Amino acid sequence: MTQPPRVRFAPSPTGSLHIGGARTALFNWAWARRNGGTFLLRVEDTDRERSTQAFEDAILDGLKWLGIDWDEGPDLGGPFAPYRQSERLERHRELAAKLLEEGASYRCFCSSERITKLRDEQRASGQNPAYDKTCRGLERAVSEARAAAGEPFVQRFRVPEGSTTFADDVRGTVTFPNADVDDWIMVRADDTPTYNFVVVCDDADMQVTHVLRGDDHLTNTPKQVLLYRALGLEVPGFAHLPLMLGKDGKKLSKRTGDTALQDYRDKGYPPEAVVNFLCLQGWALDDHTEIFSTDELVANFSPKDVGKSGASFDPEKFLWMAGEYLRNDSLERVTHRCAPFVVAAGLMTVAEVEERKDWLAEAVASERERIHLYSELPARIAYLFEDDAELTWQDAALKNANKHAGAADTLASYLAWLRPRLVAPLDKDALRVSSREWAAEHSLKIPALFQPLRLVLTGAAGGPDFFDVMSLLGPERCAARIEAGIARLGAG
Ligand code: GLU
Repeated sequence: MTQPPRVRFAPSPTGSLHIGGARTALFNWAWARRNGGTFLLRVEDTDRERSTQAFEDAILDGLKWLGIDWDEGPDLGGPFAPYRQSERLERHRELAAKLLEEGASYRCFCSSERITKLRDEQRASGQNPAYDKTCRGLERAVSEARAAAGEPFVQRFRVPEGSTTFADDVRGTVTFPNADVDDWIMVRADDTPTYNFVVVCDDADMQVTHVLRGDDHLTNTPKQVLLYRALGLEVPGFAHLPLMLGKDGKKLSKRTGDTALQDYRDKGYPPEAVVNFLCLQGWALDDHTEIFSTDELVANFSPKDVGKSGASFDPEKFLWMAGEYLRNDSLERVTHRCAPFVVAAGLMTVAEVEERKDWLAEAVASERERIHLYSELPARIAYLFEDDAELTWQDAALKNANKHAGAADTLASYLAWLRPRLVAPLDKDALRVSSREWAAEHSLKIPALFQPLRLVLTGAAGGPDFFDVMSLLGPERCAARIEAGIARLGAG
């Protein structure tokens, strides 16, 4: 490579960021970073009806959440500003006029009714719908006169004969017969330019050297390559990334997994896991590593290593990976990221989280082996926030406790022993050992003490080590729960 690549991500702000788009952005970004190149963001907001500022903001926010940064963009500016396509209209008009002047495009005066009818007929006779080139041969003077008289027209690209070949890093050499490329519309009757036209104008003006984008654009590429040539411009490199497929082998849809990046954020996926997992949809670090860091991605990514076939998206594996990241991250960061979910669940206020940060970290530590997502924490620690006298007892936990005759008496006698040992901070390890000794001295099997104790402290049959629970509850609440439990078991 002679010069560092200039690559771009060009989202349309007509919806939230799709995970396929997020993956495209990641690959572009990683490629730029690996090569000391430039990653730019261009907002393709030419669909004025459907584009909104809110979607644009959400897309940028989603990229930031993934840890992607850009060097030029609508928010940062840059040497080729503006980076919002709708603000580049003058330049698009200038290039459209040039192409018309040079004969690389032509005015088409066919009414939309005629085109619709033509297409219907073509479809009915089993042909691919295409413009029949009625206006392609109009003499320039006639075309000028009809336009001057106010007759509406679109501007079509004059596709030459022959075939169009381009190099694609993923697919190798790709060739389309030009006969299959329609004389496509560059500028609509309302004078607005179309995607295939402006994407080339902007990529060329922004000196983009490589276009990495979804496979769904592959059939647009011959149109764009022909346009580069008509404009006398160098054609950039291309890499068309395989579509992400659901486990059913079909295009990813809501049915086979969430498709909006935001859904994963809302569900409490660690962003690092999202980056890792999305990159695995089409690319791999090697033939066996599943978990890799963003640094490893950047050090190794090449579009040439992206696979051709559709990548299969496995939601269970995604969840597993989220759990791996959650477990191996620093407790401080996991706590920080769990906190908004704890607040949203109404367990703590923002101020309480701030005041009791260490306590919350301890609560996270007690559960993080058992969760995959930040959002799973609140339900797991909700028992800590319940009223001590009225803790919810799950049936399975009660059944376990009741397996042991005299559970209430056991707890009463244990509590008498425990009370002076319930101090803060609690020496959990010492208490665990001495509690077991206490059970042995009283000729009790361990479950005969621990199952009733688990019931009265947590209400659940399984869960964290209950010396962790005792420490989290603190001496008073711990004693209160055992006392209340003895009364309830006795009464039952
Ligand atoms: N705005 C287009 C899209 O979101 C960009 C496609 C391209 O990268 O050329 O699909």
